[in-house]
Amino acid sequence: MGRVFEYLQVVLFKKTLSRYAKLLPKDFFTTTTTKKTELYKNLLRAEIETIKQLQKEEFEFVKKIQLLRLREVLVLAAQTRWWNNYFLQKKVAWKRIATFDDLQTIPPITRNNIVDVEKKDLLLLEANDPSLLWRSSSGSTTGTPVVWGLNKTILILNVLASLLIQLEKRGFLLSANLNHKFCLHYNMFMTADKHAFKWFAQPDFHIPNHSSDRRKKTIELSLIIAQTQNLVLFTSPNELISLVDSFRDIGDRPHIPFIITVGSPLPPHVRDTTTQYFHSQIFSFYGAQETGPCAIECVNVKDAYHALSDRIILELLDEHNRPVKEGEAGLITVTCLDNTVMPLIRYQPGDWGVFVSNSLCTCGNHFPLFKVLERTTDVVTFSTGERLSIVPILRFFNRPPYISFVRRFQIEQDRHDHIIVRLEVKKLLSETAITRLHERVGRIFKGKLQADVVQTTNLTQENPKFRVFIPLKTPRP
Ligand SMILES: [Zn+2]
Repeated sequence: MGRVFEYLQVVLFKKTLSRYAKLLPKDFFTTTTTKKTELYKNLLRAEIETIKQLQKEEFEFVKKIQLLRLREVLVLAAQTRWWNNYFLQKKVAWKRIATFDDLQTIPPITRNNIVDVEKKDLLLLEANDPSLLWRSSSGSTTGTPVVWGLNKTILILNVLASLLIQLEKRGFLLSANLNHKFCLHYNMFMTADKHAFKWFAQPDFHIPNHSSDRRKKTIELSLIIAQTQNLVLFTSPNELISLVDSFRDIGDRPHIPFIITVGSPLPPHVRDTTTQYFHSQIFSFYGAQETGPCAIECVNVKDAYHALSDRIILELLDEHNRPVKEGEAGLITVTCLDNTVMPLIRYQPGDWGVFVSNSLCTCGNHFPLFKVLERTTDVVTFSTGERLSIVPILRFFNRPPYISFVRRFQIEQDRHDHIIVRLEVKKLLSETAITRLHERVGRIFKGKLQADVVQTTNLTQENPKFRVFIPLKTPRP
């Protein structure tokens, strides 16, 4: 009897998790200016309650729900030409996959597998379907820019609910805030309308790094901060120190209640400085453009992330694709359970992680806890001793025209003040495009950095540990 009851619960959770999204008003897909209806707010509350309930369950129970949903994703994947071929080629008996051991029979994929695939071979909808959200990844970790389709509902409900739960745990009052725009995107490369908080976001705010009206813009930002109740500032860790400096320069010290960061782990000095200066609660999440957010920082354990197990299966795998033990580093491997438009199974964004014991955590969330290992330091070194981030260049290639030409890129600093940009291209870039690239390097690094651009047809590297940026080797003292 107990087992039957449990099975019914599993089925019920599975159905609930995929049903809420289906009840969303249609105009949520076609516009970004729709009023937040009562129905939407209620669906959001329901999603939040469901996820909270799941976080409290034993994880073994959650895994049963994941397996049922995985089987649905496999059925969908097999309907696409690419996945169907992949299963045939790799001799995967996908219909028989019923356990996590069976899942091991699907070899993981990386960006290299999908970068040249026609999107229609992976897609279950028309490319212009209003419920589809296209997101492009700059490939700043892997050197392979890629475009991927997501159900819009992933961000509208699934991810938003997880972010709100985490905010609530830090004192954010949900009931008081669903009616106003509490979120502000600051210097983000992605606009708010492709983001989970879009229904709660004010217009994006930018202060370019070397802008001459930085003071004026900082005062403007200060006003917005003062006028927004329960402000949630959304940005990348790289921006935080200069934000503190800008406010110091104008002798202002506004209170920013919540800061959420994404993009890279938060260095401890950045966290401390920002928390103290703005008197903020600060946390980050982990994800990729093509998966959406996958994990969110635990309230109690700094730098450790809980997988969003209501929407993904998270695995950490060694080089032979075997699951690693707790404490061992493994490649982060994600299967999206809520992407029904462009299935993504056992996908490796290229980052490494390590599971940490859940017993460390007393936050009440039983979803797996892991740390993301530091990415290589993406810093260019100058003969003046200056060190600047290479990231703005890495983000260049997900834009037209580069996105249609560049399959993969790698940047190497071979000597002071000089880099080599190697582009693996599908077809040769025009001279204008190359000139624009030089101009951008010149602008960002104020003429102090020279670049050689090399176009090639093959950057021979099949390893997911491919390094997108090779920094200057520092000689031993
Ligand atoms: Zn926790």
